[in-house]
Amino acid sequence: MTAFQEFRCVLGDCCFAPGELDYTCPQHGELGTLDIVYDYESLRASLDRDAISGGQIANHWRYLPLLPLAPDSQLPSLSVGWTPLYCAPRLAEKLGMKQIWIKDEGVNPTGSLKDRASSLVVARALQAGIEVVATASTGNAAAALAGLGAGLEQIEIVLFVPHDAPPAKIAQPLAYGAHVFLVDGSYDDAYELCTRACAEFGWYSRNTGVNPFTTEGKKTVALEIAEQLGWRAPDVVAVSVGDGSIISGIYKGFWDLLQLGWIEKLPRLLGVQAEGSAVLANAWRAGLSPAAIKRRAVRTIADSIAAELPRDRSKALRAVRESHGAFVTVSDKHMLESIPLLGRLCGVFAEPAAAAVAAGVEQALQEGIIDSNDEICLVSTGNGLKDIDRVRESVAGALPIPADVDVLRARLEEIGLL
Ligand SMILES: *Cc1c(COP(=O)(O)O)cnc(C)c1O
Ligand SMILES: [Zn+2]
Repeated sequence: MTAFQEFRCVLGDCCFAPGELDYTCPQHGELGTLDIVYDYESLRASLDRDAISGGQIANHWRYLPLLPLAPDSQLPSLSVGWTPLYCAPRLAEKLGMKQIWIKDEGVNPTGSLKDRASSLVVARALQAGIEVVATASTGNAAAALAGLGAGLEQIEIVLFVPHDAPPAKIAQPLAYGAHVFLVDGSYDDAYELCTRACAEFGWYSRNTGVNPFTTEGKKTVALEIAEQLGWRAPDVVAVSVGDGSIISGIYKGFWDLLQLGWIEKLPRLLGVQAEGSAVLANAWRAGLSPAAIKRRAVRTIADSIAAELPRDRSKALRAVRESHGAFVTVSDKHMLESIPLLGRLCGVFAEPAAAAVAAGVEQALQEGIIDSNDEICLVSTGNGLKDIDRVRESVAGALPIPADVDVLRARLEEIGLL
């Protein structure tokens, strides 16, 4: 038994039974992405949040009753989620905020928040006896799908990654045994090729936006934040945004908890985009509808948030509007500076797209979008090891030294360590 009641289209009142379709609403096309809606009344009666907190499951399957999977489902073996939520007083002081929390998603099994979505999609594929799962990705979703599918004899993973993805993000899925195609084009070109391939060859698509199970996976980060704070929402949750799928998942997680009466309010969601890839931020500022958003060329060093046509645009705009949140944009330079900032002040090692969130908080404070008294949670979405070349650009070099203690002493005096 699962409380999964129906699919509901984000653009209208269209509803579909579980199992009736896999992807988007047939009436509204790719803009009509689907929410998975539960029987909240029966969940309120049958579920106890304290029993979840008191349980032994130290990964996101602690929330299985709040996910669209039966209790006896075969689940992929990697342990995803239940990542640490750190209190970050030094970062708070530096940025001029009273209270900052940071959720380190870089410690997931393949190094990013994408594991949450891939885990749900692989579980669904196992349930449905699917043989091939495919996705387009700037790298992290590819690694996540490959990692979650690794070791499963019955499932093949096919990936479409832009040719200029960081080398670690290409090597990692290869090591997990996936079939990796390097597409001569942008992420959006890879996305379109993957969509065609899935239609043509009957593969199951994990593509961001179209597969409603990805939102349900990503929502578990919000469930964890609320639980780790003692079942409540902070004032603001900040996260970087490319396709808009993570911020949509975060919204859905808090929305579910509000339906259950387990939290009292939605947090305001702060979406952080790169200045050079700001399609959603611009649409939000201009008050555009999702249908009015056009594909635009983008340019940023943060590959994970480079999206010419954000695929989860309908849900992402809803998330920010309904939560009374906002979008901000940050420069590549500011993003890079934020890598050592998070490293030094919190011990969190972030790739550029993840570090962007700290730059976004500074920007939002400056613009008066958040107040220094707001309690804010930053989601650090991916590990710094994913793109080591950019990390090296963000720090001063290491100090070369001969193996001689007298030279060392002189150098230590020079830099004031002696
Ligand atoms: C995918 C990703 C994002 C952006 O998520 P969207 O759902 O595309 O908005 C941000 N940071 C990292 C590290 C990612 O992998
Ligand atoms: Zn619809």
